[in-house]
Amino acid sequence: MKTSPAPKSPPSATIERVETLLLDLPTIRPHHLSVTTMDGQTVMLVRIHCSDGVVGIGEGTTIGGLAYGGESPEGMKLAVDTYFAPRLLGADATRVPALMAQLDSMIRENRFARSAVETALLDAQGKRTGLPVSELLGGRLRDRLPVAWTLASGDTARDIDEAEQMLDLRRHRIFKLKIGARPLSEDIAHVAAIKRALGDRGAVRVDVNMAWSELEAARGMAALADAGCELVEQPVASAAALARLVRRFPVALMADESLHGPKSAFELARVAGADVFAVKIEQSGGPYAALQVAAIAGAAGIELYGGTMLEAAVGTIASAHAFATFPRLQWGTELFGPLLLTEEILTEPLDYSDFHLTVPDRPGLGIDLDEDRVQFFRRDRATRTVSVANQEA
Ligand SMILES: [Mg+2]
Repeated sequence: MKTSPAPKSPPSATIERVETLLLDLPTIRPHHLSVTTMDGQTVMLVRIHCSDGVVGIGEGTTIGGLAYGGESPEGMKLAVDTYFAPRLLGADATRVPALMAQLDSMIRENRFARSAVETALLDAQGKRTGLPVSELLGGRLRDRLPVAWTLASGDTARDIDEAEQMLDLRRHRIFKLKIGARPLSEDIAHVAAIKRALGDRGAVRVDVNMAWSELEAARGMAALADAGCELVEQPVASAAALARLVRRFPVALMADESLHGPKSAFELARVAGADVFAVKIEQSGGPYAALQVAAIAGAAGIELYGGTMLEAAVGTIASAHAFATFPRLQWGTELFGPLLLTEEILTEPLDYSDFHLTVPDRPGLGIDLDEDRVQFFRRDRATRTVSVANQEA
C-alpha cells in the first residue's frame, strides 16, 4: 500500500530583517604592527531578526581597515546589505548549514562578511534551541581558554611595564610582540630585552606580519631562537618560503595570513609549511570553516592556536565557542580584542581571569549587547535595514 508523505510543516522561524551597523570604538593605546598603526577599532555588527522573535548577532572586524586583507568593515556592511540580506530574507532560520551552503552558491569570497552572517545565524539557533554555540559546533572540550596579550606600544620599557602589569593582574602570561617595521637588529634587541626581563614568568612570541624577506627571516629566526623566543608568526608572505624555513631553527613557525580557509590550510599542510596554524573564524570564512581548518591541522600533525582579528566582544566570543571544540589547542589563544578597547558594549563584561577567558554556557553566544552603548558608538545613526516589507515595497 502506498502512503503519501506527511505534509511538510512550515519552518518554525524565518528571517524577517537583517540589520547592519558600524561601531567606532576607541582603543587603550596605539597598536603598532608592521602593516599599520591602529588608534581605534571599527566593528561591523549584523543582527538577524527572526519571525519567532529571536535576534542573532554576528561581527565582522579587520585589523587596520584594509591594511590586513581584502575586506574592510565598510565593505562587509555593503556586502551584507546588498548581497547577503536579500537572499536571507524569508529563509528558514533553523537550518543554518543549508542556508550557508545556499549563500555559497551565490556569493564568492567575502569570508569576513560570511563569518559575521554565520555567527548571527548560529547565535539565533542557539537561543532558539537553548544550546550554546559551542554545542551547535559539535560540543565543547573546555570551558576556559588561555589568552595571550600583544605588546605593541613600540617601546621596549613600556612593553616590559605592560607585561609586568598583566602578570600582576594574573590576566596574561603569554606575550606576543609585533615586530618587522624596524631594522632586524633593533627588533631582536627589543625581543631579547623583554624576554630577559620576564624570564620564566612569561612566554615570548613574535608576529612579523609578513614584513621580512626570506633571507631576513632566516637570520631573524636564528637570533630569535637564541633570545628565548618560542614562536615566530608569519615572518614572510609566501607559503613556499614558510615551507623552506620550517624546522630549520629551534623555534616554532606559525602560519597566519597564509591561511584563508580550508583549501589554503590543506595546501600548507601538504607542503608541511608550518608547525602551528593560527586559526581565525573570519579568515577561515566562519566558525564551521574554522573547524575544518583545525581538522586539517590535526590530520597533518600541525599544532593549533586560536587567533584574533582584534574582534570586539561578539566576534571574540564566537571564536571562543569554535576554539572550545578543538580536540587540541596546544598554543592557547589571543582572544584579547575586547581588552584593547576602552569601552564595554555588553551588559555583562566577559570573564577574563586567572590567565583565561571563560566561554559562556548560556544559549547562543551567551552574551547581550548593551543597546545604549551600541547606539552611542554607531558611526551613522540611520541604521540601514533590509526587511521583507521594504524589499517588497
Ligand atoms: Mg598574526
